[in-house]
Amino acid sequence: VFNQGVALYVEDLRVAFDGFQALGGLSLTLGLGELRCVIGPNGAGKTTLMDCITGKTRPDSGRLFFGSNLDLRRMSETEIARAGIGRKFQKPTVFEALTVQQNLELALAGDRRVRQALRARLSAAQRDRLDELLQEVHLWSEADRVAGLLSHGQKQWLEIGMLLAQDPRLLLLDEPVAGMTDEETARTAELFRCLAGRHTLLVVEHDMAFVGELAGADGQVTVLHEGRVLAEGRMDEVQANEQVIEVYLGR
Ligand code: ADP
Repeated sequence: VFNQGVALYVEDLRVAFDGFQALGGLSLTLGLGELRCVIGPNGAGKTTLMDCITGKTRPDSGRLFFGSNLDLRRMSETEIARAGIGRKFQKPTVFEALTVQQNLELALAGDRRVRQALRARLSAAQRDRLDELLQEVHLWSEADRVAGLLSHGQKQWLEIGMLLAQDPRLLLLDEPVAGMTDEETARTAELFRCLAGRHTLLVVEHDMAFVGELAGADGQVTVLHEGRVLAEGRMDEVQANEQVIEVYLGR
């Protein structure tokens, strides 16, 4: 039905909680390999949108397609994850007692039964992928370190690495740089720009400097407000939009 170049298609999505409309007709299209930032004040519906995409929340109406033909409204959370949608929540959740490498081995083995997965040998291809992931998420020199001893930013990278191990086509990232140092934030921006193209990224973020860095001169930024798209365009366009200014300054 849709263009081959579409990664995610959202049309007129509506969600109400006890009569309160959290999403009131939200429409959004992400291109394949796109890096899209979604911003908006508290309560705008950012989390609800991500919950709908992962199947955690069931929309009341609207269309929600992954790629050209997967109807997410008809799929379970497990089916959606298996189809290639990975989500990173704000707080890092890694196995603190295991090393960086062991955390990634578990993710590559794709087995929840921890002890069994740790005993299992990775294939040669998985070993190569492990090395690649360690470099990609800036943790090569920390491979043998216990994850609990990593900095906050490094834990976030490790969790992103664990998500990447599952080879998702679409990555949903919820405030990924909250609590990071400036240097960690800059390296995270670099990482995401590297991932775009191979993966489609939807990043919900409050840090405007970071959003500006991710979007660059041409990237699209979507502003949500009261469950709908208030504005969409390049960062400079969005920042100059009167309605956006009004919402952010609370006039
Ligand atoms: P954001 O992530 O942009 O801050 P949310 O998607 O969390 O916004 O919330 C949108 C609105 O929906 C908010 O007003 C919030 O209070 C409400 N909401 C979200 N989840 C629930 C829920 N499970 N029950 C009732 N209201 C909810």
